[in-house]
Amino acid sequence: MQIRRAESLRSFNTLALEARATALVEVAGEAELAEALAWARAEGLPPLPLGEGSNVVFAGDLEALVIHQHAAGWSVLAGDAESVRLRVSAGENWHSLVARSLQQGWYGLENLALIPGTVGAAPVQNIGAYGVELERFVEAVHAVAVESGEKLLLERDACEFGYRDSVFKSRLRDKVIITAVDFRLPRIPAAECRYPALATELEARGVVAPTPQDVFDAVVAVRRRRLPDPAREPNAGSFFKNPLVEAGRADALAAECPGLPRYPQADGRVKLAAAWLIEQAGWKGHREGQFGIHPEHALVMVNYGGDSGEGLLQLAAQVVQSVRERFAVTLEMEPRIYGKRP
Ligand code: FAD
Ligand code: NAP
Repeated sequence: MQIRRAESLRSFNTLALEARATALVEVAGEAELAEALAWARAEGLPPLPLGEGSNVVFAGDLEALVIHQHAAGWSVLAGDAESVRLRVSAGENWHSLVARSLQQGWYGLENLALIPGTVGAAPVQNIGAYGVELERFVEAVHAVAVESGEKLLLERDACEFGYRDSVFKSRLRDKVIITAVDFRLPRIPAAECRYPALATELEARGVVAPTPQDVFDAVVAVRRRRLPDPAREPNAGSFFKNPLVEAGRADALAAECPGLPRYPQADGRVKLAAAWLIEQAGWKGHREGQFGIHPEHALVMVNYGGDSGEGLLQLAAQVVQSVRERFAVTLEMEPRIYGKRP
């Protein structure tokens, strides 16, 4: 285990922002993780787990020990004719898990294909796409407490999963590092393809009774077509969460704004499409200096060659303010901000 001081994080975030961490360490397993946490305690530095940096914004340098777990792989815990139970290491690449589980005949994750990042970060925001959320397949999350080094096991209910949310973003924020996730995946295929963009793609491909492989192929194709590749246009995916508002508020807004997309939720609230609000407020394709809102996807903010996240955050603040003024809805950022703002 080698601790590197004053390390640049540019290659550790998909927005390609420049920032330095006080120290960075890549750990291979739980013993090295314990060693790294002990080092951080001795130095008085907060440890910061970082996967592939696809959901973070670095606003400035970080006074932290950045911990990158690269231990990957999985083991089968148990299985029967109906399902399999897997333990997957935090450092495993998410898409690789999706693709390999499908090859094994373990289903369910196909709607979540091509989401960047690691398995360890996936429970943090309960990743979701095309009508499926991670929580459906999680049995338990293994973690280590940052302060005590104690090993923790959180059953699914204890993870308090919500819409792009979990206990790891609230009560346990900064308090634990996820080391592995236990999944239960069905062996019996049941393709989930009601999400409109997915259903349209399957129809266009002439698929009448989709298999999980068909869903995987369609999701990969739609995402490749629709979402900017961070390797060419550095971005952090959706920059804002879709706001959830009370039904009465959504009705009132719809009366004022014809065409407002509304998605009723199980809890009675209504989800609005943040991309629609941003586009209507005139921000789609807008560029300021080195940062901008993608011309084809209003939820995606792009770094066109800037160094510091400050310019990006200032532009984001303007977007939030103008959407609030126009619709009286406050957008919340999805990626988490780290580092000292100048
Ligand atoms: P990071 O960005 O490294 O970390 C994210 C947060 O999790 C940080 O707060 C970090 O400290 C914490 N964290 C990371 N690892 C651990 C750990 N082991 N223990 C505790 N905390 C940890 N998200 C979706 O939900 N659906 C999508 O469809 C989707 N599409 C995307 C498309 C693009 C092009 C991009 C760039 C992003 C997209 N995202 C999407 C967001 C992102 O991919 C996910 O949030 C992903 O889970 C982040 O993984 P990561 O390893 O990059 O996490
Ligand atoms: P889209 O299909 O253009 O839809 C726009 C928005 O409308 C989405 O945010 C989606 O909410 C919502 N929506 C559409 N149909 C819906 C339905 N039938 N029921 C409920 N909500 C519906 O979205 P997109 O931007 O191309 O993304 C496709 C999928 O990938 C979405 O699920 C999106 O969340 C996911 N994605 C996430 C990120 C990220 O960084 N978080 C980045 C890229 C893509 P939901 O977002 O709740 O699905």
